[in-house]
Amino acid sequence: MIGPMLLEGKKGIVFGVANKRSIGFACARAAAEQGAQLIITYQGDRLADGAHKLAATLPGECIALPCDVSTDAQLDEAFVAIRAHMPEVDFAVHSVAYADRADLDGDFVDTTREGFLKALNISTYSLTAVARRLAEMMPNGGSMVTMSYLGGVQVVPHYNVMGPAKAALESSVRYLAHDLGPRGIRVNAVSAGPIRTLAAAGIGDFSRMLERQEARAPLRRNMEAAEVADATIFLASHLARGITGEVLYVDGGFNITAL
Ligand code: NAD
Repeated sequence: MIGPMLLEGKKGIVFGVANKRSIGFACARAAAEQGAQLIITYQGDRLADGAHKLAATLPGECIALPCDVSTDAQLDEAFVAIRAHMPEVDFAVHSVAYADRADLDGDFVDTTREGFLKALNISTYSLTAVARRLAEMMPNGGSMVTMSYLGGVQVVPHYNVMGPAKAALESSVRYLAHDLGPRGIRVNAVSAGPIRTLAAAGIGDFSRMLERQEARAPLRRNMEAAEVADATIFLASHLARGITGEVLYVDGGFNITAL
């Protein structure tokens, strides 16, 4: 017998869909296939057409709206439109990151103040900024999931400024989980293995990360965005109702090895 869908009757928002390769889009697809009604967000005009087309390919109800997370003014404007369409939500996926290309090559020690602050503003602070606004839309509790990477815990060549950004993101997950837990809102991260996406293309020698993953991960292969999405949907669902403040690795076990 086929059971009920995991997100049947649930409403959710996925922040950070740039194209069909985006982990955010894989999450949107998995959520839609599990019965959720969705909003997907894109950064700005340049991505609007693509995002509307992607939304139309998903089963069920899904619309695309703009949401640039760089400033509070832009976020406030975006949330007016988001709330008008979906006053209450059950879950949200934060799949947003940015660092200047110059800071994703060479040595971390050369990171500029401007580059550091930009990466942490967009990749890290945006989770807290979005979580505060979302919490008001979750009167019956809810679930938030963000995307992290092992480079926040261990040194990965070329990941550079994104390392401290992900370390602070994972710490933010714990503080947000603590603050929002009494309201029945859970906050977790998924730490994904390397996947070829637009954001990944900016990282110097990314192919080497894929090769190391394939050679050394216990599962001896690279991850697909759909696998990361399935774990994300699990965390968003009732099945994960006892889990908050966690970082769930979806990396074929790569993080447990010291090979
Ligand atoms: P992606 O480029 O498809 O997604 C990144 C998203 O961030 C894009 O939609 C982009 O438009 C958005 N973004 C950038 N600046 C923004 C801004 N100012 N306002 C709003 N949105 C903005 O790449 P992805 O790999 O799917 O990345 C999604 C998340 O997954 C990121 O947090 C990334 O760090 C994380 N992640 C990726 C990998 C990987 O190997 N691809 C591994 C682990 C974690």
